[in-house]
Amino acid sequence: DQAREENRAVLLDLSREELQSHRPALVRELPRAIAAGELFMQYQPKVHVRRQEIASAEALVRWDHPTRGLILPGEFISAAEAAGSICALTLWCIKQVIHDQRIFAERGYDIPVFVNISGVLLADSEFVAQVCALLEGSSAKIGFEITETAVIRDPAIALKHLQQFADIGVPVAIDDYGAGLSSLAYLKQLPASELKIDKMFITQLTSSNRDPLIVRSTIDLAHAMEMEVTAEGVETPAALALLSVMGCDLVQGYLISRPLGRDAFLAYVEEEAHRKIAPVGLPNLRN
Ligand code: C2E
Ligand code: MG
Ligand code: MG
Ligand code: MG
Repeated sequence: DQAREENRAVLLDLSREELQSHRPALVRELPRAIAAGELFMQYQPKVHVRRQEIASAEALVRWDHPTRGLILPGEFISAAEAAGSICALTLWCIKQVIHDQRIFAERGYDIPVFVNISGVLLADSEFVAQVCALLEGSSAKIGFEITETAVIRDPAIALKHLQQFADIGVPVAIDDYGAGLSSLAYLKQLPASELKIDKMFITQLTSSNRDPLIVRSTIDLAHAMEMEVTAEGVETPAALALLSVMGCDLVQGYLISRPLGRDAFLAYVEEEAHRKIAPVGLPNLRN
């Protein structure tokens, strides 16, 4: 058995090494991929529990690679951060979201869209200046999602840049809350209006003894600090029901909708708008 364990460890190491040796190569392709139009955004609705309507959407980047097929951000974001291409990638994402949002607006749907911003960019004054120039005075309704770890790395500079976003009316959500080490009291110093509880606490919500306590106290504390709370990773009607009782403001997850391409998202939004005329009680329960 020990030999088997050791073999497994070796295999794990090999695959890890293989991953690491392939990723830089993959990331070197990013500028070409952007120019060739291989990247695209998907949108996942965040639904307001009490109002039973779409409050906003999260934009998630995807890479349709010519030989490897669909690549999810988990495979290239951190490598892009390391390679210094995350700034160009993120600016592309923001511009694409502005473009797609204009199409939503032309169809009559004015939906704020939140873009994920890497922590490394929160320390990059040039990036922040470029983004502010892009968004200031524009009618785009863009928000940002940032992880707590991003802020801990250099709190002073992050705080300064987040304040710049707040000053031009860009809302900020704290993403993956609870997955890192920061306290909510500490994060409260940030000009953030939304707290997203990490999906690790939500997917097990109704099968764990511990998670409901954590989630409920986080919701209460965030409310006391005047933040809206979003639960990500809502996968079951039972989780949705419990979150609703706990007073969670927004829900996001496969139960409500998977992330969808622009046109599929628009179709989802239109369907929801028609359902509003004859509401049925709960957010759209389908995948
Ligand atoms: P995140 O911002 O926390 O996004 C949530 C992730 O959970 C997404 O994975 C989403 O598809 C997935 N998800 C949504 N609902 C459910 C659910 O009910 N159950 C489960 N198990 N998962 C769910 P995705 O798209 O693979 O993105 C992973 C991470 O990559 C994101 O985590 C975000 O940190 C990063 N990312 C995505 N797009 C961008 C981007 O444009 N720029 C940057 N810098 N990072 C991005
Ligand atoms: Mg996010
Ligand atoms: Mg998240
Ligand atoms: Mg996450």
